[in-house]
Amino acid sequence: MIEITSLKNGIVIDHIKPGLGIKIFNLLNLDQLDDEVALILNANSSSQGKKDIVKIANNLDINLDAVSIIDPSATVNFIEEEKVVEKKQLELPEVSKGILKCQNPTCVSTTERNIESKFILIDKKEKMYKCAYCDHIYDVEE
Ligand SMILES: [Zn+2]
Repeated sequence: MIEITSLKNGIVIDHIKPGLGIKIFNLLNLDQLDDEVALILNANSSSQGKKDIVKIANNLDINLDAVSIIDPSATVNFIEEEKVVEKKQLELPEVSKGILKCQNPTCVSTTERNIESKFILIDKKEKMYKCAYCDHIYDVEE
């Protein structure tokens, strides 16, 4: 783990709703990174009470769609030389490729290895996606 306050280069995903930090961590497969990763749970936030934070050293190439699918209200800060050089507000992607896995065991995207999963946003408020291959509804909240 790295110091909460110090990150020379990398990404800080801030203002994650409490409980969702671990989901982002898992969906981004951050346990497989060689770089330093910090997952901070229930940090005190002046604006929203508690929040989760994810810090990733060096790796500036994470899948932002995966973050926004889990928590579109999170903010992503890109850090260079200990300074925030870019702040990104997230938006739910209309189409999500290769992130979510279809839960339908007979879906062609789960049975055929070379087919990338593809989901289409059908309800922004409820964060619901529909599989482009079998119409299976994926509820991100679950
Ligand atoms: Zn499917």
